[in-house]
Amino acid sequence: MSNPTPDPIKKKPAPPSSLTGDEATASTSNFIRSTIDADLAAGKYATRTWGGRPGTAVTHKGAPADPAKIRTRFPPEPNGYLHIGHAKSICLNFGLARDYGGACHLRFDDTNPEKEEQEYVDAIVDTVTWLGFNWGAHLYYASDYFDVMYEAAQRLIETGHAYVDQQTAEEMRASRGTLTEPGKNSPYRNRSAEENLRLLREMRDGKHADGSMVLRAKIDMASPNINLRDPALYRIRRATHHRTGDKWCIYPMYAYAHPLEDALENVTHSVCTLEFADQRPFYDWLLERLADGGLLQRPLPQQIEFARLNLTYVVLSKRKLIQLVDDKHVAGWDDPRLPTLAGARRRGYTPEGFRLFAERIGVSKADSWIDYSVLEDCMREHLNDIAERRIAVLDPVKLVIDNYPDDREEECFAPNHPQKPELGKRAVPLSRELWVEREDFMETPAKGYFRLFPGNSVRLRYGYVVKCTGCDKDAQGNVIAVHCEYDPDTKSGTPGADKVKVKGNIHWLSARHAYPCEVRLYDRLFKDPHPGSGDRDYINDLNPDSIKIIAAQLEPALQTALPEQRFQFERHGYFVADLRDSRPGVPVFNRAVTLRDSWGKH
Ligand code: ATP
Ligand code: MG
Repeated sequence: MSNPTPDPIKKKPAPPSSLTGDEATASTSNFIRSTIDADLAAGKYATRTWGGRPGTAVTHKGAPADPAKIRTRFPPEPNGYLHIGHAKSICLNFGLARDYGGACHLRFDDTNPEKEEQEYVDAIVDTVTWLGFNWGAHLYYASDYFDVMYEAAQRLIETGHAYVDQQTAEEMRASRGTLTEPGKNSPYRNRSAEENLRLLREMRDGKHADGSMVLRAKIDMASPNINLRDPALYRIRRATHHRTGDKWCIYPMYAYAHPLEDALENVTHSVCTLEFADQRPFYDWLLERLADGGLLQRPLPQQIEFARLNLTYVVLSKRKLIQLVDDKHVAGWDDPRLPTLAGARRRGYTPEGFRLFAERIGVSKADSWIDYSVLEDCMREHLNDIAERRIAVLDPVKLVIDNYPDDREEECFAPNHPQKPELGKRAVPLSRELWVEREDFMETPAKGYFRLFPGNSVRLRYGYVVKCTGCDKDAQGNVIAVHCEYDPDTKSGTPGADKVKVKGNIHWLSARHAYPCEVRLYDRLFKDPHPGSGDRDYINDLNPDSIKIIAAQLEPALQTALPEQRFQFERHGYFVADLRDSRPGVPVFNRAVTLRDSWGKH
């Protein structure tokens, strides 16, 4: 009889590791989720109508309010391509919205016209979609709010919270003070509201030169937080904006624009990286003043900071990524070695692998380093699940079966996925001359070597047992062909096939049928875990062997692979048909990741 009382110490079964769809990232708790739980329990956002502005029940685009319980956002500046660090933020923000019945907005933070371009906007849209997230109707641009931002600036002036400063840049720097000394008030700080409004209007209307004046918040020049020492809100900058063209010659500063964007979109939890913690008092100050001034409604969004992703063996700074591309250390933004998401995609990494990674590393308040192998393991885990198996000989040498008739060929059957018999088997042709890996033959075997050497028998995987008889060499002594004889009674899958026991089992391809193909073996872009640490220039830490292009032989079925189809090449790793360089019937392959972590061991 079975015991009806469950064993109290028995652990719950581990969740299945197979990744399909969104449940792959069904999420563990963290401090951000605890905050949201508490806010929802307290009904903090229950009373708020859409729009951030009092009385507005529609979005600024006129769409009706949706019933989202919380609102987050991913706010990239369109001044570069997204990288693996952004993936953490994307998975976090969209994941929160998904799990709480909320909405996550994709918002381009385009307040800096000089560095921003439509090309980046398009690439970011593609990448977030590729990662598997959907913003629905909520695609926004900071530049959509330039009019409201201007109105908010006027409101701040009217309520005595902003002024136009005409000090030179040097004067402003000198009067800002230091971490230990308070700053000094600007001589322009006590202008009347009328004068400030007139000057702001003149700034907007192009009556003043670039850099000649700025609008500043009027907070506290003695604050211990330097961000509260009358930060700049608007500057004059004659630059053409990628969306608003030449409509504006004044542009809002990021620190001013960002909280406003959040409030106008009704964002509830504005999740950002730790370096913005010092900005939070200004974020709150600004929104409180505008709510007091009647321009925004409460409850206001709250900023929550988490530790950014630091990953070994890569650089995750847009400036450095731009330099790697511009100085041609890599072949463009989507070079498979780059930690951009466009590069990772071409490398064969998967959205599911990134979502698993984001879940596995979690979110915390403390800065730390994640080893690159954690990311690779996540990719392996997903690729192992989804990738069909194929045969590839990456360093080919001929193996001739001398007792196999030259005019004969036959089919052997290889499973497409050893753990998924439902995926079936495929036929692999066998003939007299085969390709095998050069390292699968040794004329004089090392100790413990069980593969091909004269006198030894091995199994040709899914085929016959063969006995090695010798090899041919060229004038320099290089092996150019290996010879063997097969035992016709040992074909895999036939009765009695395993009567001959062998220790070695090697993969092979029929030379006459194989598809000769370019294969790129990628490795880490940097050879040091912390590129540029100490006094080094990170460029000096580039790994000179980060790419190796080889002429491989692949099984015929791979010739019809479509761009982005992923496979496990048995014994070698996971490979993807390159998205960009493959042609119909002529795919080329990139190695995404080896089967095991072998970094530093070769
Ligand atoms: P920049 O120096 O140009 O501001 P950035 O990497 O912060 O670079 P953004 O476009 O502002 O670029 O980033 C969009 C969002 O991604 C921000 O909310 C930012 O906090 C987040 N983010 C950027 N890098 C990381 C990272 N390494 N880990 C987690 N989140 C990141
Ligand atoms: Mg940023």
